[in-house]
Amino acid sequence: MITRFAPSPTGPLHLGHAYSALLAHDAARRTGGTFVLRIEDIDRSRSRPEWEQKIYDDLAWLGVTWDAPPMRQSDRIPSYNSALLTLWKRGLLYPCTCTRRDIAAAASAPQEGGEPAFGPDGLIYPGTCRAKTASNALAPPDGQALRLDMSKALAGLGADHAFSFEEVDLLTGNKAKRIHFTPADMTSTVGDIILSRKDFPASYHLSVVLDDAAQDVSHVIRGKDLFDATMIHVVLQHLLGLKTPRYTHHRLIRDEQGKRLAKRDDSRAISRYRDDGVSPEEIRTMVGL
Ligand code: GLU
Repeated sequence: MITRFAPSPTGPLHLGHAYSALLAHDAARRTGGTFVLRIEDIDRSRSRPEWEQKIYDDLAWLGVTWDAPPMRQSDRIPSYNSALLTLWKRGLLYPCTCTRRDIAAAASAPQEGGEPAFGPDGLIYPGTCRAKTASNALAPPDGQALRLDMSKALAGLGADHAFSFEEVDLLTGNKAKRIHFTPADMTSTVGDIILSRKDFPASYHLSVVLDDAAQDVSHVIRGKDLFDATMIHVVLQHLLGLKTPRYTHHRLIRDEQGKRLAKRDDSRAISRYRDDGVSPEEIRTMVGL
């Protein structure tokens, strides 16, 4: 078993992160497996070296140890470019210049009919730039966002292509469930996702899929909030010829009001508890481990 924890260095780790990291770490330790870290710093405007250092400090304090030097996404640009080039050459990507506001306006235009539909990344892209694809360039343009032409990508896999992944419940040890979905689910609920950003040659979806494969991760353990993203990741694995790992989508740690903890929830920061004299064992109890 190879598990991982993949935080973004954009703020303090909180109780939700502690839960996720401990679950993945303990699972690897229990089975004599391997636990690795990945610093997801593709958001260049919000990532800070100080936050990265605090991640290492907080994890070490929690008793989490990792078995290889951490992977940093900002060091992975050649791999991202090479995957983008592969998809580009197959005609599956197109540049997109739409702003959020353009997308909202196009999606809610009266002629579209019905309510605008939301997918895991927000509004489902209405396809404005898809029509402008006709590009014979040998490589994708720099400094422009690139979208995956989802219908074309799925058509290439075959209309009756079946997608699935195994969902493992680490806490109860219940039998693993196989989750199935179809190409039609992807076109109606996800659409043309961003694979490369204007300011960085990868999106969350592309980098996570390539990095989990590069780190040979066998079990992805992360929050339920990413369940829908997993379907996207499975599709990308099929397109790029990568193995699909097993997944565990764990419950989310919430505050007293039932709200999911966010990065800005400094009050639940691990370092805050630590300064207040709380022990790592008590943190485990607080998150229900
Ligand atoms: N970097 C993401 C986060 O901090 C986690 C991504 C993942 O586990 O796939 O929320």
